[in-house]
Amino acid sequence: MNSNIKVFKFGGASIKDAPAIKNVGQIVQKYSEEKLAIVVSAMGKTTNALEAILQAYASKTGDAFELLNQVKQQHYEVCKELFGEAHEIYDLLNDTFVEIEWILEEEMQDEYDYLYDQMISVGELASTKIVAAYFNHIGLPTHWTDARDLILTDNTYRSANVQWTETQENCNRLIKPLFEQEGFVLTQGFIASTSENFTTTLGREGSDYTAAILSYCLDAEYMAIWKDVPGVLTADPRLFENVTKIDRLSYREAIEMTYYGAKVIHPKTIKPLQNKSIPLFVKSFIEPNGSGTQITANLDENYPPMVAVEKNQALIHISTLDFSFVAEPHLKFIFEQATKQRLRINMMQNTAISFSICVNDVDDRVANFVQQLQENYAVNIDKDLELITVRYANKTILNQLRTDKMLLLENKIRNTVQMVVKNVPILERIDA
Ligand code: ADP
Ligand code: ASP
Ligand code: MG
Repeated sequence: MNSNIKVFKFGGASIKDAPAIKNVGQIVQKYSEEKLAIVVSAMGKTTNALEAILQAYASKTGDAFELLNQVKQQHYEVCKELFGEAHEIYDLLNDTFVEIEWILEEEMQDEYDYLYDQMISVGELASTKIVAAYFNHIGLPTHWTDARDLILTDNTYRSANVQWTETQENCNRLIKPLFEQEGFVLTQGFIASTSENFTTTLGREGSDYTAAILSYCLDAEYMAIWKDVPGVLTADPRLFENVTKIDRLSYREAIEMTYYGAKVIHPKTIKPLQNKSIPLFVKSFIEPNGSGTQITANLDENYPPMVAVEKNQALIHISTLDFSFVAEPHLKFIFEQATKQRLRINMMQNTAISFSICVNDVDDRVANFVQQLQENYAVNIDKDLELITVRYANKTILNQLRTDKMLLLENKIRNTVQMVVKNVPILERIDA
């Protein structure tokens, strides 16, 4: 039984400046009589800017405070446009940003990933204070809620795992009563908390996932994510021309596409919704009346070819030093090391004496992995690659995608083709 609660998520682009926030105000105004839980990301590129502050602090470049001041200034400018000079929001924001100042004033002692979550979460805390204050300012009563009181996780900083039972209890206890009152409930995407009250984050772009967690716990009628695109398209419009909107998509299809790099939805978003058959709409905040994309259960649709590109891939070739076969005991060891380094393996292929894996090339994980292997294996790496996944591929599109590229690895399972390539030109036609 659904609860009549709708969950909306607004990402960075939708609240990047004062006119954008006003536009979001107009969108939610239409729902003022309804039960709406609103999840909000950090404004614009704030998360990247906060990451730069942490980098500056960790590598002692001396400009961390200066970078922080720029971020603060951007937030104050937006507030000036929304509220004028005198408003309690300025004190609220100062209290929020001071958390970063306290960290920067001390010598770095804590682990990087832990510090990351304590600092980067400030982006969402600041944006939600502004957006909630603005909604109240324009006569839309809104309860600001701390997502860290709602979503409980383990302490895997930067990629925390949700503890569902406690999260469900928190939602029952804290959000459901708010819906007995008038007004919206607004909270932060991306951030959560451990049982010891340390802030965690769910991974970059994790706000979509937050909205899905809340949709699940609130038995939402539906969830909508408001984006700068008309809906889910056949490919990323930043990389390809001639893309078209997909009107309806199954959960399964959406999981496959987002897992392999369709950046429009965070890959973890779909599963909680699928488990409770909660429809997901991908809508445009630029054209809110557009039909968007509807994602639901088992649709027997004829899909057009869809392309997802995952950048920053490394292809690691592993062979035995003595030319013995790469058999199961070797594979066991290789997978154990990959798990230890939290490598995400996107594709793999083996021959008698070699094994190749394509992985996301993040942080120093590949280097650490290779170090573990080098004692017993010959290891070669190709970097700066792209993994292109094509669902419902046809010959025309595959030929187009292969043009001007060095193909390093290709797999085909039914109508899905995956290829690891070097040098993909930025603009490519995908007439299907
Ligand atoms: P948010 O503001 O919620 O964080 P994102 O910027 O993360 O939103 O996601 C929207 C972007 O996803 C679009 O601007 C688009 O460039 C990109 N994108 C990648 N693949 C697709 C796709 N298949 N369909 C639509 N957009 C896509
Ligand atoms: N602000 C976070 C990020 O940029 C989370 C999100 O936007 O979804 O990654
Ligand atoms: Mg985003």
